[in-house]
Amino acid sequence: MRTTHLTAVLPVALLCAAFTAGCSAKQPYTHDSFTFDTFVSFTIYDTDGNSTAEEICAGAVGMLNKLDDMLSRTKSDSEITRINGNAYSSPVVVDLSTYNMLKSCAELSDLTDGAFDITLGNISDMWGIGKENTAKPDDAELKKLAGKQNYRNIVFDDENYTVSFSKDSFSLDLGAAAKGYAMDMLDTYLRNSGVTSAVVDFGGSILTIGENNGESWNITITADETNSPVGTLKTNEGYIATSNGAKRYVEYDGIKYHHIIDPATAYPADSGIKSCTVFSASGLISDALSTAFFVMGADKAKEFYDKYDIAEYIITLTDGTVIVSDGISADFTAL
Ligand code: ADP
Ligand code: MG
Repeated sequence: MRTTHLTAVLPVALLCAAFTAGCSAKQPYTHDSFTFDTFVSFTIYDTDGNSTAEEICAGAVGMLNKLDDMLSRTKSDSEITRINGNAYSSPVVVDLSTYNMLKSCAELSDLTDGAFDITLGNISDMWGIGKENTAKPDDAELKKLAGKQNYRNIVFDDENYTVSFSKDSFSLDLGAAAKGYAMDMLDTYLRNSGVTSAVVDFGGSILTIGENNGESWNITITADETNSPVGTLKTNEGYIATSNGAKRYVEYDGIKYHHIIDPATAYPADSGIKSCTVFSASGLISDALSTAFFVMGADKAKEFYDKYDIAEYIITLTDGTVIVSDGISADFTAL
């Protein structure tokens, strides 16, 4: 049922506030790991018993590591590095799942009018988030890269599964979507391995499977660098992703520049949003839209929501105001 193909994604499932009678609680199995440059924390509440939770988690981490090897743009032999290095000179054949993911990402870039843009790799490099850059990027150089919407210049060949670039001087950065896509893959992996009830915290993004002892899940939503909660969201199955400007940044001359870029300006987004959480039936959509809404600002996010109806959101503005989309307002409890 779950798919990362945007066109095939159903509107977000209606959240059920009703509780059913609970059965006796089992002790969950927990496992912590590090992959995709972030911590992943599994809590497995129930399985069909064919494999142990320990075996399942070990297999899941192996699967995630392989995916990271394909999608990272810092690893020299990843598919993304291969695309970035060669796609302007000649079409690059890619794995079918990577191909489909990139197509969905390009579609989401288009749908968000470039607020989410997987082709801002060169801008990310200039800002050097996560690296030890010594100087702030040059204004004039940044201006040259702004507003290009290069996702329109990715050419997909559906017969040969190749990706090419019809223009030079851009590169892919999947930092805003790879974790979400990995959550989709993880969900399928866990279900196929017999998991019937689980929560996975994937570097702050949350995947829920099944029910919480016969009831909905209660997920704490945070909005700042200290992870202080703004409220709790009652959800059934789905994916929660949060984009937060305070979490990753570089500092030049004592000024902090965060890692969520407005592709229209090539500068860190400054839309009045402090943190944006998105809930949907797809990890990829939740991840991409949390970034896109952060860039767009609350008014445009609402317009997008009214038009497409594919995801719910909780937005915390820089002044502390919390805005919750209509579809989940009854399930959100402010703290
Ligand atoms: P996090 O990775 O902290 O969960 P996001 O999902 O918002 O947060 O992803 C931010 C990362 O995505 C950045 O580090 C950068 O690599 C990339 N990125 C930044 N701005 C954009 C954007 N507007 N569109 C697509 N990718 C972006
Ligand atoms: Mg994101």
